[in-house]
Order: sequence, then structure tokens, then C-alpha cells
Amino acid sequence: MSTATSESIQAFTAAAFSTPDKFTEFCANGGKPLGGIIGGKSVSGSMNATFQSTDPGSQEVLATVCEMGEAEVAAAVDVAQKAFASWKDTPLEDRIALVNKLVQLCDRDRDVLLACEIRDGGKVSELAEGDFTQIRECAEYFSSVAQKIAMGDGAAMKVGDGVKGYTYREPWGVVAGIIPWNYPIVLTSWFIFPALLSGNTIIIKPAEDTPLSALYIANLAAEAGFPPGVINVVPGRGEITGQCIAEHPGVRYISFTGSPGIGQHILRICDRHGTRMKREMGGNGSAIVLDDADPELVARTVGRYVNQHFGQTCCTIHRVYVDKKIADPFIDAQKAFMEDLTIGYQADEGTQLGAVVNPTQQRRILQAQSETVSRGGEVLLSGGVAEVSGRDGFYIKPALYRTEPGVDCNPKEVFHTFATVCPVDSAEQALQLANSSPYGLGASVWTPDLDRGVALAKQFRDGTCQVNCHNSVAYGLPYGGQGISGGPGGGVNCEDTFLDYTQVKAVYVADYPG
Ligand code: ADP
Repeated sequence: MSTATSESIQAFTAAAFSTPDKFTEFCANGGKPLGGIIGGKSVSGSMNATFQSTDPGSQEVLATVCEMGEAEVAAAVDVAQKAFASWKDTPLEDRIALVNKLVQLCDRDRDVLLACEIRDGGKVSELAEGDFTQIRECAEYFSSVAQKIAMGDGAAMKVGDGVKGYTYREPWGVVAGIIPWNYPIVLTSWFIFPALLSGNTIIIKPAEDTPLSALYIANLAAEAGFPPGVINVVPGRGEITGQCIAEHPGVRYISFTGSPGIGQHILRICDRHGTRMKREMGGNGSAIVLDDADPELVARTVGRYVNQHFGQTCCTIHRVYVDKKIADPFIDAQKAFMEDLTIGYQADEGTQLGAVVNPTQQRRILQAQSETVSRGGEVLLSGGVAEVSGRDGFYIKPALYRTEPGVDCNPKEVFHTFATVCPVDSAEQALQLANSSPYGLGASVWTPDLDRGVALAKQFRDGTCQVNCHNSVAYGLPYGGQGISGGPGGGVNCEDTFLDYTQVKAVYVADYPG
């Protein structure tokens, strides 16, 4: 039985974090910009262009990074193709041993990788530490999957007189991961381990806001002994570096996480030359709170998820449908929880709501807050810019609105501590409203009656359906989206994910005629 009390439910919170010297030295790179990593070499790029990676909570420049253009993407594809010739035939035990070594090196340099998440990504330590554990968990899970899945020839079947047929499963070749800025270490791990263990060589395109962890992990991979060309990193803007990846016919498969507009755009490009692509493209997650739920306990728990990484978590809750019978105490408790969040610098002890990643995001969120009001949302917490003394970051206050069925004031993903609460007459009405979004990544039902909760949760049009929990991920279960939130493929974190990084051919063999 759960022992949680409403007071014990707290927002994700920062411990004080001091930046390790090793991170500072890595970023300084002896006074030179950090290059991309292509064929095991640091490459400054033919465009002679650089960009700065900054700390969103202070705008301090952390590192200057070289931007990779068309020539560098072509070079990365070329070296990855060459490396594929031997990597695909490297025995699985050897690939697993290299992955294990890489994980050990990540553990050794945990503080540096935490600094990447906290300083470059703007995350509080409680969340960053959880993200870090995903490196090992993901590597171990996909190592065990790799040992189970039969690559190569499947069982032969007779398909005619003197004719047999069988399947042949093989890696794609060169695959690319286009990674967003909100969970850099987690999403890099979710991409690299299944892709590498199934025998592909890879190109990582980190987000321009958070390039540091991928570059650091690639250095560790070289130290672990991965052959040059197996893991390449091409930092740069989406419309330059990312676009060149999408347009390169030598990339056989792309794993993309980001916004629906960009995901749909890349898919159209890929389709021109047959590159396959899987996509996770955000959400506008809903929570249904039934009449038998404890309003205070659930309001605080929902508030914790609304604020997970300051609402910049793809599947998190931004729409709440609460039964009218408990709506008033629920709303009071959720408002109190969000109002009490400690806004501050993400590396300072006690911070619960830090800065958003860049000024564009800040503008988008502030605009969405005012649109919610103009579309009929009743303001409970008004949002707006927040000031943090001594810190020049992109801070915004939490926003909470009361709404009612038929008032469409929260139609798109707003990547912040932002939610609308809509009192409803029934669970059925809540379900219909929850499913009215074009997104479909994650949704939850909150009730002590688990049977009732499960029956409702299964009716969500979402990739992840949850009862009394949210933002759930576990290795062995698919994490993916329905509607405009994702597809195709098996989502991430399950056996189908591994299969996504492989292709299957049918082989027919007939006796020689005559
Ligand atoms: P967000 O709005 O969350 O920043 P985006 O979809 O813009 O999400 O970005 C997600 C990832 O896609 C980033 O690595 C970004 O650089 C990349 N990206 C953006 N535009 C393109 C594009 N035209 N082609 C390929 N990748 C892109």
C-alpha cells in the first residue's frame, strides 16, 4: 500500500552542483572550438562556422562548437559506410564488450555527464541523476535483447518443388539519430545502444542547444576502443546539419525526436530516396482524475509531473480533466503546489523551476500563455517572465488555467510548467476530451479503483496509458506515440526497437534448372 501523503509529494528539486574541472577543461578544449567527430578525428568543418553552447540559467557561454555542413555530413556517411563493412561482422560479444566499456567510462566520468545535463541542458540534479542511470540500464537491456534476436538466416521453408525460402535479417548500414535538447543523455542512449548492438554504424546529430554530452560520449567511445567511423557526431543547426542528414541517400535509417512539423518535414525528404525513419514528436499529455481520488494527493502528484524538467518532457501532463465533485479542492491544491515551486538557477540547492532552454522557447511559451487566455482559459496562475536575482536566464513563472468542456484553449504542446484543468461531469466525458488532441504520447487515469482505471486507460489514444502514474518508461515496454506524436515502428525501449534498426529480406533458392 502506498504511504505517500500529500506533503511528501515534492517537485523535482536541485541539490547544489559544482561544475567539475574536467567538464570545464573539456569545454575549453585548449582554446579551440570543439570539433565534430568524424572517423575518430575532431573536425572543424569546411563552413568555418561555430556556435556557442550556453547555460540557459545564466547565459554563460560554456563552449564554442564547430558547425558541420554538407561536406562533413557526406564525410561522416562515407567513414560510417566504410566502418560498417567490418562492424557488421564484429562478433556480438565484442560489440557488447565495447558497449560495457563505454558504460564503465561514463560511470567514471559521471560528474562530467551530469554537468552536461545540468549546465548545458538546464536540468535540476534530481532529474539529471535519474537520466544518467539510463545509460547503463539502456545498454544492459539492449545487450540482452541483442543476444536473443536472431540476425542472419531465419528457418528455411519449402516454397515449391526444389525451392526453399528463408528470411535474412541484417543491420541497415549507416543510421542517424537526430536528438532534441530536453533529454540529451537519455535520448542519445536510447538511440546509440540498439543501433550499435544490431550492427549499424551511427551518426549522432545533437540539438544545437545541447551538443556537449554527445561529443563527450563519443570521446569516451574512442577511449573504450570503438573503431573509428562507427560513432560519428555532427553538431550544428537543424536546418543546416540536420537537413543535410535527411537529404543524404547514404543514410539508411533515421531516428528522430523533436517537433511534429520538423518530423513531418524530414519524413517527406527521406521518402524521396527511401531512407526509413522513426519519429517521436512530442505530446499534450492528459490526466483524468476520477471522483474517488484524493484531490490533494493527486493534485500534488500531477503537479510534480506537470513540472518535470519544467514541463519540457514530451509525454508529461498539460491537460487535466477532473470530476466536478472534487474539482474545487483539486484545483486549490494544484494551484498551491505550482505557486510554491522554487524558481531559481538549476545548479542552486532547492531550485524546482529553472530557466527554459533558449529565448525562442521563452517567446513561444509566453505567447502560448496569452493565447490560452484569449481562447477562454480562466487564469489561476498567470505565468509571465520571472526574475532570478543575479542570473540572466530565460525564466518563466508557472501557468495554470481553469477551463470547461467546449473551450478549446490548450490545443498544442506548450513546453513549460503549464496546465489547464477542466472540471467534467463523467469519466466518459473526460476520456472524449482527452482523446480530442491530435497528439497521443502519454495519458493517465487517477483513482484507487484500479480495475476502473485500467478499463479507462486502455481507451486512450496514446502510446503510453497509465493508472496512478505518469511519464512512465521501462525497458521491455514500447515508448512511442499515436496520432501526430509518433510512428512508425515499435517505439523505443523494447524488442521491436531493436528490430527497427534491422531490415529483413526474403531469400529464395531454387535447384539449378535442368
Ligand atoms: P524543438 O522544437 O523541440 O527544438 P525540433 O524539432 O526543432 O524540436 O528539433 C529537434 C531536432 O531536430 C534538433 O536536433 C534539431 O536541430 C533538428 N532539426 C531541426 N530542423 C531540422 C531539419 N530541417 N532537418 C533535420 N533536423 C532538424
